[in-house]
Amino acid sequence: MIAERRTKIKELLNVSTYGTDVVVKGWVRTFRNNQFIAINDGSTINNIQAVVDYQNTDEALLKRITTGAAIAVKGKLIESTGKGQKVEIKVEQLEILGDSDAEKFPLQPKKHSLEFLREIAHLRFRTNTFNAVFKIRHSLAFAIHKFFNDRGFVYLHTPIITASDAEGAGEMFRVTNLSFDNPPRTENGEVDFKQDFFGKTTNLTVSGQLEAELGAMALGEVYTFGPTFRAENSNTTRHLAEFWMIEPEVAFADLNDNAQLAEDLLKYCINYVITNHPDELEFLKNRLLEEEKQKPMDERSEMDLVSKLNFVASSEFQRLTYTEAIEILKNSAPNKKKKFKYLIENWGADLQSEHERYLVEKHFKKPVILTDYPKEIKAFYMRLNEDGKTVRAMDILFPGIGEIVGGSQREERLENLEQRMRDMHIPAEELYWYLDTRRFGTAPHAGFGLGFERLVLFVTGMTNIRDVIPFPRAPKTAEF
Ligand code: ATP
Ligand code: MN
Repeated sequence: MIAERRTKIKELLNVSTYGTDVVVKGWVRTFRNNQFIAINDGSTINNIQAVVDYQNTDEALLKRITTGAAIAVKGKLIESTGKGQKVEIKVEQLEILGDSDAEKFPLQPKKHSLEFLREIAHLRFRTNTFNAVFKIRHSLAFAIHKFFNDRGFVYLHTPIITASDAEGAGEMFRVTNLSFDNPPRTENGEVDFKQDFFGKTTNLTVSGQLEAELGAMALGEVYTFGPTFRAENSNTTRHLAEFWMIEPEVAFADLNDNAQLAEDLLKYCINYVITNHPDELEFLKNRLLEEEKQKPMDERSEMDLVSKLNFVASSEFQRLTYTEAIEILKNSAPNKKKKFKYLIENWGADLQSEHERYLVEKHFKKPVILTDYPKEIKAFYMRLNEDGKTVRAMDILFPGIGEIVGGSQREERLENLEQRMRDMHIPAEELYWYLDTRRFGTAPHAGFGLGFERLVLFVTGMTNIRDVIPFPRAPKTAEF
């Protein structure tokens, strides 16, 4: 039994003193020529090579060194003569911790499609791609907390079960513990939710914003970072039914402050990954180049992943109003040549992702902050502009992603807010607690929602949002 403490492979690959005794524990990636084991322990996407003296090793033991098996090796760390690696381990003792039947183990030492790996999401962590993606996902989460903590924001935990529909969009998952076979009924035969667990109908939250506003109106600057749920039946590469959202809310802030905060946050996160994950980014950059070779020339990215991240982190986001954007889109080549699926004819049209991507990828060629949308296409809580037609909304659009942030300056004037709620059939009685912030010491404030997986998608250069969350939840998809 190898009892000594293991050293992580990441550490060993960086040392330049040879001849020391080391212990490594990890999973076999490949075993070549009955001699060379590539071991990965998760600490880095790089493997360490362990060299077995096969002539003096029991044959039965050698047979058990199969792809996927967990092993421990003890030996001397020596300079490697092979190319692509500085050090390797000359094995003195080898122990199988957990066998892996080579016939049955689904991950072979070859390239697997992302679609296939999605079906074995419980094992895909063991690939370099997902090692890199989930390391970066972790670091992005850490960077977000650090960014807000350094600025004095309070991390507020908003409820996951809620009785309100923040967006008024109605795409919510019902939470109940009533029996489906024989639920209690009212006199007119409807299901009696008064007898449900919470004494009313409840749902999984679609956003923590309304509660975050309550916090901001006392603590000043707060943010949420938690799971949100949307029962929207959109089977796209940008939507999940369960995703994580970051929602800062700031008192005494207007839309410009809000846009600046979002731009600073996004750049901070991107820079954090550039600084802390050079290996993972290099790997993902090459992965993407490889993937794009299958695409026609005009669909390939103009920049590689690392250049793109550096470019976005150092360029000023383009700010313009919805009205200005409509003019650009109306006069754009794809609109005139009727190439857009939804042609832009009138002011007031909702922007589709084809329009957002045209603005970002073709017209400005950098991230765009669009502001001041028509009130008809935005939520009830956004502040009405002087023109009476537009609201102080902002969407941030990213290349390859489309909308990554949605936010606004909030309507802090009670009468305006009540009017908007009436217009949009939002029941004011149920939201009395929200309106109380406008009754007692109301103040200008603003906030936004950043979709965490869309950020991870952008930074990792992955193309399907289901590949940047460990266990995706989407229509007809809830395995693991
Ligand atoms: P979209 O138009 O792309 O569906 P939305 O307008 O519904 O987005 P918001 O309600 O403003 O989005 O949510 C804030 C942010 O949350 C979005 O900017 C996006 O980054 C993210 N987001 C929204 N819906 C999803 C989803 N289903 N899956 C993953 N992220 C999402
Ligand atoms: Mn949506």
